[in-house]
Amino acid sequence: MITTEILYAHFLENLQISTDTRNIIKGSLFFALKGDHFNANEFAAQALENGASFAIIDEEKYKISDRYLLVEDVLTSLQDLARHHRNQLNIPVIGLTGSNGKTTSKELVNAVLAERYKTFATFGNLNNHIGVPLSILSIRNDVEVAIIEMGANHQKEIELLCTIAQPTHGIITNVGMAHLDGFGGFEGVKKGKAELYAYLKKTNGYTFINRDNSYLMEMSTAAGLNKLIFYGTETGNTIKGQLKSSDPFIEVDWTNHEEESSVKTHLTGSYNFENILAAICIGDFFDMNPESINQGLANYQPKNNRSQLTKTDRNTVICDFYNANPSSMSAALNNISVLTADQKTAILGDMFELGPESAIQHELIAKQAFESGLNEIIFIGKDFYAYKDNTKAKFFKTPNEAAAYLQENPIKNNMILLKGSRGMKLESLLQYL
Ligand code: ATP
Ligand code: MG
Repeated sequence: MITTEILYAHFLENLQISTDTRNIIKGSLFFALKGDHFNANEFAAQALENGASFAIIDEEKYKISDRYLLVEDVLTSLQDLARHHRNQLNIPVIGLTGSNGKTTSKELVNAVLAERYKTFATFGNLNNHIGVPLSILSIRNDVEVAIIEMGANHQKEIELLCTIAQPTHGIITNVGMAHLDGFGGFEGVKKGKAELYAYLKKTNGYTFINRDNSYLMEMSTAAGLNKLIFYGTETGNTIKGQLKSSDPFIEVDWTNHEEESSVKTHLTGSYNFENILAAICIGDFFDMNPESINQGLANYQPKNNRSQLTKTDRNTVICDFYNANPSSMSAALNNISVLTADQKTAILGDMFELGPESAIQHELIAKQAFESGLNEIIFIGKDFYAYKDNTKAKFFKTPNEAAAYLQENPIKNNMILLKGSRGMKLESLLQYL
């Protein structure tokens, strides 16, 4: 069997990893991962043909030359390799998790820190047991600080990701109604996210915490954390901020108690206030002055279908269809209800992974939508369809059915919220708006 040290020596030759035969990087190490429906050991030969230098496999029958490196388990060896690489990097790593706003906060923290440091941040949403090791293995020697998004949908996942990313600093953005199924309800969500606090306690790391969030405060006390840096709306926080405007873009007044400062962002959605404050707090902790922090925030333009305000020929669309869960759906409805617009529409898709609480959570969101002062509401998906008898909204089982309706009944001059779970793929509707 091949050891991590030997694998690492091979990794250092080219510093590239591949896991998909359709996109092999020349000279990379190909890790033949297994999924529910595939066994990449079968594609190892193809990966080598496409340019990988070595294929890491865990089934001996596929080893037909020295370019196949046999390990006990490919996923574990990828994680071990990342851990080994992390150990060579003597830099601060900011581990970031939470139910909502991880990617947005990660992007904002990166936008701020990049004004002063050579940063690395997780690409896109590569935040799971494969994405985190791949992220860590993408950190090069010249990086001064890394921001690593860590996602989870069940217990012990954050604990594992912490052993790989080994964060020296950490932040839980919030805890909410997300992945209730895998975590076993809201108490389970708190327990699962608190694994980051437990790791920071054990390793004596720093924790950034939103003092306005009573759940996070409880969790940090329970974890016995003491190296805490607070942000929030009250005096007594290292960074104190106030939401100045959210119509339609977020503006924040803030102070580090030496200087008063104000920043205008390109993000919509008042829920982004806490994400912005987190980024300010982290920038301040890493010795950045308010001008640079504000510059990073002001220059950040969301392009990832999260909190992104887009003007089409006929309407203004809040493109927030990257994902949805009850907490973020509720926050998005609160947001559109306070925006200034003559006509408002919400097009909402089903929320997945809610387990036994799914029906009640869909009902609560439907009720909130009915009371949000919207001119039109369109629900899409079989879970919302259960409320089809309500005359205040239109109901469609699939985005295709909704698309047909929108083509026949075009919406004009509206502010439109477009949001649903990733699997609903609501981006297909944007062309009809
Ligand atoms: P994922 O679990 O898919 O990685 P995430 O935690 O990275 O999600 P983002 O991708 O940043 O979250 O944001 C997804 C959506 O969550 C946004 O489009 C917005 O609707 C909502 N959201 C973002 N920040 C917050 C927040 N602080 N509170 C509530 N909802 C939020
Ligand atoms: Mg994310």
